[in-house]
Amino acid sequence: QVTRAYNFNAGPSALPLEVLEKAQQEFLDFRGTGMSVMELSHRSKEYEEVHNQAKASLKELLSIPDHYQILFLQGGASLQFSMIPMNFLKSEQKAGYVLTGSWSEKAFKEAEVFGNPYEAASTKDDHYRRIPLQNELQYNADDAYLHLTSNNTIYGTEWKDFPAVDVPLIGDMSSDILSRPIDISKFALIYAGAQKNLGPSGVTVVIIRDDLIEKANNDIPTMLKYSTHAKNNSLYNTPPTFGIYMLGEVLNWVKGIGGITEIARRNEEKAKLLYDAIDESNGFYIGHAEKDSRSLMNVTFRVKDEVLEKKFLAEAKQAGFVGVNGHRSVGGCRASIYNAVPYEACRAFRDFMKQFQQVNG
Ligand code: PMP
Repeated sequence: QVTRAYNFNAGPSALPLEVLEKAQQEFLDFRGTGMSVMELSHRSKEYEEVHNQAKASLKELLSIPDHYQILFLQGGASLQFSMIPMNFLKSEQKAGYVLTGSWSEKAFKEAEVFGNPYEAASTKDDHYRRIPLQNELQYNADDAYLHLTSNNTIYGTEWKDFPAVDVPLIGDMSSDILSRPIDISKFALIYAGAQKNLGPSGVTVVIIRDDLIEKANNDIPTMLKYSTHAKNNSLYNTPPTFGIYMLGEVLNWVKGIGGITEIARRNEEKAKLLYDAIDESNGFYIGHAEKDSRSLMNVTFRVKDEVLEKKFLAEAKQAGFVGVNGHRSVGGCRASIYNAVPYEACRAFRDFMKQFQQVNG
């Protein structure tokens, strides 16, 4: 029996133990091939099955309609910050960006390289404590697209309902994809780096509506066109085969425990443990996000004074809780409790928070 850490890393982050064990079992001899999955040709029928099965599982779990393509790309979510404006921003056209944190700011900056993005809304003045209300969004009907970040990994806020808009809506779902049911049809494009809820780093999932692929700009490098990857089933060049294999196994794990509704139920339950500890602390712990914008994935908070906060982080580390420091840009504390973080880890951390307060409060 291995000892597993209480892993609250923000990404790369915890993977389901069952998935790691299955990968370990298959590591040297993948299904009778006498090779590791990493050693298979990406043109072999064995790999093709892995690839297509991962796509089919994602389609099933997220109820992705037929007129969307699922792509497995590289370059992280960060390359999507560039590919999106490259492909979809035409000269003379604008694109609205909803600024809800550091990642949406980065996406906005990349769009400036190619065209004319503007702020469709921003909660920066509120220290990114909240998601804007639908009536705060300002965009133009003839924009190329509207971009939002569904979960703000650093600030710990998350959109509860997505706006219904009459321009192509693009969502960076890197840190909450597959955590809850979503209405894919509200979006023209969704993207996510895999390393939080989907698998190891190295694969970026893009879900893109057919009409958007057709409308894209043509004067860009082949590898940076969505159409290249869509036409070639993400096998135009060598894909990150091991990462896609792991992604497929993570998706099997989600299916096995009851699919997206069960995952969502578990995520609500886990997050409640920690938010209750904050809310019941009489100000000892101070949550960063406004209540109705709270993320179920990244629980961000401060301890009431800086000296105590340092002590809290040091003792948490000592007690075996990994990754509870806030992002280096904002400080404070953050527990990232993605799909694969077990309830027991959250309960142990909740107990630790309660005990720390009892001793130091
Ligand atoms: N968007 C969000 C919301 C993120 O959390 C991250 C990574 N933490 C990124 C984008 C960047 O992802 P990558 O490292 O895959 O480029």
